Amino acid sequence: ASGMAREKDKADRATYQTVLDPRTRLILVKMLNQGLFSELHGCVSTGKEANVYQASTADGNDLAVKIFKTSILTFKDRNRYVQGDFRFRTGYSKSNPRKMVKLWAEKEFRNLSRLHAAGIRCPQPVHLRLHVLVMEFVGSDGVAAPRLKDAHVTQEQQQSFYTQLVLLLREMYQRCHLVHADLSEYNILVHEEELWIIDVSQAVDLDHPRALDFLREDAAHINSYFRRAGVATLTTRELFEFVVDPNILAGNIDQAVEALMNVAASRPCATGEDEIAEKIFHEAYIPRRLEEVDDYEGDFESLRHTKAGSSREGIYYQTIAGMRKDMTGAAVQPAIMEEAQSVGT
Ligand code: ADP
Ligand code: MG
Repeated sequence: ASGMAREKDKADRATYQTVLDPRTRLILVKMLNQGLFSELHGCVSTGKEANVYQASTADGNDLAVKIFKTSILTFKDRNRYVQGDFRFRTGYSKSNPRKMVKLWAEKEFRNLSRLHAAGIRCPQPVHLRLHVLVMEFVGSDGVAAPRLKDAHVTQEQQQSFYTQLVLLLREMYQRCHLVHADLSEYNILVHEEELWIIDVSQAVDLDHPRALDFLREDAAHINSYFRRAGVATLTTRELFEFVVDPNILAGNIDQAVEALMNVAASRPCATGEDEIAEKIFHEAYIPRRLEEVDDYEGDFESLRHTKAGSSREGIYYQTIAGMRKDMTGAAVQPAIMEEAQSVGT
């Protein structure tokens, strides 16, 4: 009993910064008793929706314990992420906050598992109990890695981080079938000069009806961060299309990335015209399957009457459908490379 009391003491000590409810404390005490970790340290972060603590195991490893808050009343419009995700068709109850946070923790655990299995740098999920998620600690000697927003990054490194992220976004989409949906400099950690993806409770499967909207938002956030950091970036549309292009394969991805970065470098500062095109793309409806296209023949006709290389605003599904920009057939190479060639001729 005194052992139990001592363990409870340890759990209590960690609560000095924020008050945990008895249920959560019981979960933590059980985890301590199970030997999942032997000590729970202070808070790494107190957010609106979750607190993250650092814990250490008996053999000296660090873990991160993310505790989703049951008390919050204002979730970041969470409904939009859950509705339409086939993995959460049942059991989502808006009226029961305890069930709701359990679901978010579960979602994060599953999404981290998917990413980790695909070799994407993210915390490895370790254990889940209701709304308490235990995962790998990203950091060194008990100090959490800084967020990209706070990290000291040289200009040269920013450039390489941008390329890294463009590839990461594509891998998440193509290999994990996930869109992060809250990707920004706040949810990326810089650890040992590499980028680590965190905070994936709201990430959605590609089957989610709004997956492409979220991808477009992620792409816009990433571009805007790096643009502010002085990196020559792509347009949101270029980044988006690179992520979804089915014609980029293991054999040509290096060339595609090179072509992409050349496009970015040749356009160092955004023009007014670019900005308008960005805005239009931001609001455009992008069908994912040809059944969702209203007027394929009409689109084909209107493209037939625009000159090669000129504006194709209003028609956005060629790349995701794997077609040539002029829709005269299936593309045989990445859109970014077809484009580079058509500009050259
Ligand atoms: P939220 O933004 O919903 O509060 P996050 O998952 O983004 O939750 O975590 C909040 C903060 O906690 C992060 O910005 C990061 O600083 C820290 N953090 C989260 N997970 C880890 C981890 N596995 N290792 C180290 N620090 C972490
Ligand atoms: Mg976060």
